[in-house]
Amino acid sequence: MNKRDYYEVLGVPRNAGEQEIKKAYRRLAIQYHPDRNPDNKDAEERFKEASEAYEVLSNPEKRGLYDQFGHSLGGRGFGGFSDIDFGFGRGFDDLFGDIFNDLFGRRSTRRRYGEPGADLRYNLELSFKEAVFGTDTDIEVPRKQECDQCRGSGARPGSSSEACPTCGGRGQVSYQQGFFSISRTCSHCRGEGRIIKDPCLDCRGEGQVMAKHRLSVKVPPGVDNGTRLRLQGEGEPGINGGPPGDLYVVISVHEHPIFKREGTELLCEVPINFVQAALGADIEVPTLNGLKKLKIPPGTQSGEEFVLKGEGIPSLNGYRRGDQHIMVTVETPTKLNAKQRELLEEFARISGDKVNPRAKSFLEKVKEFFG
Ligand SMILES: [Zn+2]
Ligand SMILES: [Zn+2]
Repeated sequence: MNKRDYYEVLGVPRNAGEQEIKKAYRRLAIQYHPDRNPDNKDAEERFKEASEAYEVLSNPEKRGLYDQFGHSLGGRGFGGFSDIDFGFGRGFDDLFGDIFNDLFGRRSTRRRYGEPGADLRYNLELSFKEAVFGTDTDIEVPRKQECDQCRGSGARPGSSSEACPTCGGRGQVSYQQGFFSISRTCSHCRGEGRIIKDPCLDCRGEGQVMAKHRLSVKVPPGVDNGTRLRLQGEGEPGINGGPPGDLYVVISVHEHPIFKREGTELLCEVPINFVQAALGADIEVPTLNGLKKLKIPPGTQSGEEFVLKGEGIPSLNGYRRGDQHIMVTVETPTKLNAKQRELLEEFARISGDKVNPRAKSFLEKVKEFFG
């Protein structure tokens, strides 16, 4: 068998420094890691090749020997160091630590005792008023719970799980490659270390079943779209005695036909007619607490805003309440009878160009603009 040169394997020059070698190996190991390339023989070979090259080149003593003698050290090659344990247990973990936990951690941590349960999310729809004033509501959350039948063991009552014969209960199988011992998750028991010969019928051996869990939620006043309420410990149950996850209730609020909101400010648009706008009027406007009187002063323009202090939405912390903003829109009549038309024409005639005060200054600006 023709072995590739270790420097070539890692793609580094012969005078490469420690860091350069480390970096090159890291890149290759991530690329060819067996967990990322299941059932890919070529990747597996590349992975082993790179690991072997790194093991030698990262060790000054072995690197020196390799530089001098190449692969044919004492006619036995570097595989001769079989009495040295280069298992991935030590150097490998030091080198990669978090990276492999991120990439492959899901599988390898499955057996850890006391693994916390997953967090759950529940979408809660509220009416506009419920969101503003808060509410108590009951929800049903589908979530896993321990199987009653087998008490979470997954084995049919009267039987029990047994150590996996493939990995001897370790959850990992290792094989020897030169002086490396490479560990992989056991495919027989999927890393659990135990197998269930006679699975519980209720949970099909999972130990957990889906169930609807009823609980009441206290929604505080002032929530809005996207507000998340955290219900501690109401997520999925932990594994092997770990703590349960949390439940996040995520609020979405139905639109209101009249009101809109921006944070704690309540907005609404109120139409008035052009006579009310010109002469002023007392009108009634909707608020969260029923109809309230609002004085429209004479000469009110369309789009003008009136503020009702403290009639807005309570802040989530309960310390203050926002204001209500009322924007009036002045409506122009669309149907006039003969008498109304006559009166308006009369109005126009006696008013001359004093009828709309803003238009005059507007016209002057237009003239200025066109020079
Ligand atoms: Zn069961
Ligand atoms: Zn196994």
